[in-house]
Amino acid sequence: MSNMSVPKAPRIWQLAERRYRLVGSKCLKCGRLFVGLRKVCPQCKSTEFEYVELSRRGKIYSYTVIRAPPMEREKYGPYIMAIVELDDGCRLTAEIVDCSSEEIDIGTEVEATFRKIGEESESGIIYYACKFRPVVKGV
Ligand SMILES: [Zn+2]
Repeated sequence: MSNMSVPKAPRIWQLAERRYRLVGSKCLKCGRLFVGLRKVCPQCKSTEFEYVELSRRGKIYSYTVIRAPPMEREKYGPYIMAIVELDDGCRLTAEIVDCSSEEIDIGTEVEATFRKIGEESESGIIYYACKFRPVVKGV
């Protein structure tokens, strides 16, 4: 790991980037768990959260193969978007990578993998996208 500092990003995202972990928000009032950073709980309207680390593993809840990708990614061809249900019950939409659509199904176990998607040179912020790949059994 490098020592590159990320001065302006909120601390929690620095940690997420540095440690490649999934960050979620837990409502302190009703206990509901959300993916990413939340300001207001849609369930109880509370604005108090604690930030928690979400499970990096889950399974495919549903998926779809995008055969007509947006223009900027045409060269990559079709790709798989899935709703992943994490082990702690959170659901999120993410791209499934490192496999073809024939290799996955509903219920396939997947794990988070972080891919660098861009860098903002002025502020030094590095953007990561959380994607998922099938869990390789027996490794
Ligand atoms: Zn709540």
